Amino acid sequence: MNESTLANTPGLTSYDVVIVGGAIYGSSVAWFLANNPDFDGSILVVERDPTYSSCSTTHTNSCMRQQFSRELNVRISQFAANFVKHFREYLGNDPRVPELPFQSYGYMYLADNEAFAEVLRESQQVQASCGAGTKIMSAGEIKRDYPFFNVEDIVAGSHNPVDEGYFEGNTLFDWWKRSAREKGVEYIANEVVAMSCNQNRTRVESITLKSGEVVTCGTIVNASGPRAVRTSRMAGIEIPVEPRKRYTFIFAAEKPLDRDLPLTIDPSGVHMRTDGTYYLAGCPPDEDPAIDYDDFEQDYSIWEEKVWPVIANRIPQFEAIKLVNSWAGHYAFNTFDQNAILGRHSTVENFIFVNGFSGHGLQQSPAMGRGTAELITYGEYRSLDLSPFNFNRIERNEPFNEKAII
Ligand SMILES: Cc1cc2nc3c(=O)[nH]c(=O)nc-3n(C[C@H](O)[C@H](O)[C@H](O)COP(=O)(O)OP(=O)(O)OC[C@H]3O[C@@H](n4cnc5c(N)ncnc54)[C@H](O)[C@@H]3O)c2cc1C
Repeated sequence: MNESTLANTPGLTSYDVVIVGGAIYGSSVAWFLANNPDFDGSILVVERDPTYSSCSTTHTNSCMRQQFSRELNVRISQFAANFVKHFREYLGNDPRVPELPFQSYGYMYLADNEAFAEVLRESQQVQASCGAGTKIMSAGEIKRDYPFFNVEDIVAGSHNPVDEGYFEGNTLFDWWKRSAREKGVEYIANEVVAMSCNQNRTRVESITLKSGEVVTCGTIVNASGPRAVRTSRMAGIEIPVEPRKRYTFIFAAEKPLDRDLPLTIDPSGVHMRTDGTYYLAGCPPDEDPAIDYDDFEQDYSIWEEKVWPVIANRIPQFEAIKLVNSWAGHYAFNTFDQNAILGRHSTVENFIFVNGFSGHGLQQSPAMGRGTAELITYGEYRSLDLSPFNFNRIERNEPFNEKAII
């Protein structure tokens, strides 16, 4: 089943669940629902671009970390690590399903001042209480374990080499999609362009496709990534999510490092890590406005003026490097608190969000997909209480404060 063979028209005129967007979130929710023996409804996934050429999922850096400051975010990543390590089991021991490669070289947060070092220490305590292996390191310890770093200005670092690093996110995505379809989920190549609600606007009753068909729905799931606000507005709902550009650069080093480079978060905001025989680096732009949905233009001045100088300073061996590839992708940036927006809308009660994941959505997709499927099936979260991410925290103006945002 390849995407080019996707039908444009739905097989039915009514579905229990309609999911708008079929990338990692649409497919995670669809798979967890279809895999749940207590759910026996019909599921339609509508994807406007089945090549996935401009979605966040195919532009990701595909890393996961336990190094968050909030216990819930740590637990979410711990489920992701478990899911990735036991992927074939989760997919029913299907012999066609590959093992998912996971390179656990960890993240290395570097602090160049005592205040940030204290934030790292506090977060380490939260992580340790969840069983994560994060260690606070002195500059000397960092130099001992990773002699290539320049640590002259470094006060402390935090590093966790257990269940933290790079995983094959796109293989996870491919198999969720494939397995969901095999379990009866219908994917179509089309776009949701409108929704109609009941008279007092407590339910979305139907969606309209770009091709003109109208489909009625029991539940609607907004899994439309950076376009989430467009989808919400079809139901008269505003959410604080906008597309923001993030740049990734792949480079070769004339003298490669003698060991893996952890995903290092330099105090400047530049990050870098091992990427097979190459290295990957990136950073947010200094000016970070909402951008056009179709704007993927690369900005090489970010590489020349920001990224390269920082990495050459932090790792002097990287003075001789060559850029071999690069891309710009979009975060679905939650301007309220950079964390997930989940659960049901407060008044349009069959409208469910899986939105606003900013830079940590890929690793959260197993836990959020599982939780959303539970919410639809049972009316409540059962495995992990994800209610702190509920949409209504925005109405109450209560941000979910997470200090470790990249
Ligand atoms: C450069 C970069 C690096 C990242 N690195 C990491 C990382 O290391 N670790 C991590 O955990 N996360 C990372 N992320 C974040 C992660 O990739 C995203 O959070 C995640 O992929 C979001 O998936 P999604 O399904 O919500 O959105 P998307 O992948 O954008 O998918 C949304 C889909 O909805 C479709 N759609 C939209 N509107 C409609 C409509 N009206 N009708 C039909 N279809 C529609 C779109 O075509 C699209 O396919 C990174 C993101 C970027 C950009």
